[in-house]
Amino acid sequence: LAKARGKGRVELFDDELRSRMAARHELDAHLRDALEHGGLRLVYQPVVEVVSGEVTGWEALLRWEHEGRSVPPSEFIPVAEDSDLVCDLDAWVLRRATAQLASWRTARGESDGGPTMAVNLSGRHLADPRVVDHVRDALTAAGLPAQLLVLEVTETVLVDSPAALDHLARLRALGVGIAIDDFGTGYTSIGQLGAMPVDTLKIDRSFVASEDPAQRSLVTLMIQTAHILGLGVVAEGVERVSQLEDLRDDRCDQAQGYLMDRPLEPAEAFARYGAVIAPGVLS
Ligand code: C2E
Ligand code: MG
Ligand code: MG
Ligand code: MG
Repeated sequence: LAKARGKGRVELFDDELRSRMAARHELDAHLRDALEHGGLRLVYQPVVEVVSGEVTGWEALLRWEHEGRSVPPSEFIPVAEDSDLVCDLDAWVLRRATAQLASWRTARGESDGGPTMAVNLSGRHLADPRVVDHVRDALTAAGLPAQLLVLEVTETVLVDSPAALDHLARLRALGVGIAIDDFGTGYTSIGQLGAMPVDTLKIDRSFVASEDPAQRSLVTLMIQTAHILGLGVVAEGVERVSQLEDLRDDRCDQAQGYLMDRPLEPAEAFARYGAVIAPGVLS
């Protein structure tokens, strides 16, 4: 009897697993279709300098409209990361985002300086040898100076993969900026951090948004650590004026979050180009 019940459980588990795998497989197929035939677009969230509120950069974030609803990246990026699809997606984002910034610069008549464009790179893509060509080709096609592109990567990727580290060093040699995204959620030691080819830390939203004084102190510590290592710091997910005030007191360089603006459609984003977004803290 026990054996029979056990077998039944296994079958039930198999059925569930099979249908979940089928759903993922289907999502993957639809996502490939969207990449080839349309359905993907980018939105752009401003990054501001804390002391001035000046828009100093953008982060490109991928959006997928599928069967009448907007599928969040947290749902489809993990599926795309199961295969090389994520490399193709990231390459598409790189081309789009660099072309977008180049066209905004042309429209504004900007020749040097100006806001940067940040693009998220999946760990799988960073470990793929094609990544260097993808980035170089995007910059060339857009005619964008490498200095204006920032690649966002997560800590785990760098600690886990020697290939990724090697590619990152080659990308940095092109002149692009490298930011560690969601900083604080991984396991990088301060020693490792100092040896990594990176320019900026993006402190994860979970620390910035926390009401816990200990977590808040960690934000202060992360900002100081970054500065000691000669890195810039961006605080992610800033939603309240009090958070921005704390960040200013801690000498955080840049901030990003709903308090300043949500990720915007290209036309809305362009309206913020060259703007100052200072939600009350500087007065
Ligand atoms: P991320 O790179 O850490 O991006 C920041 C996420 O936080 C975005 O979510 C953004 O909309 C959200 N956010 C910004 N400010 C606030 C705030 O004040 N409060 C709250 N609650 N959220 C805020 P989104 O667009 O859903 O993206 C989620 C993640 O998906 C990204 O996290 C990134 O890891 C990944 N992702 C997005 N686009 C791409 C892409 O083109 N390629 C790859 N590989 N990953 C991407
Ligand atoms: Mg990011
Ligand atoms: Mg992040
Ligand atoms: Mg995040």
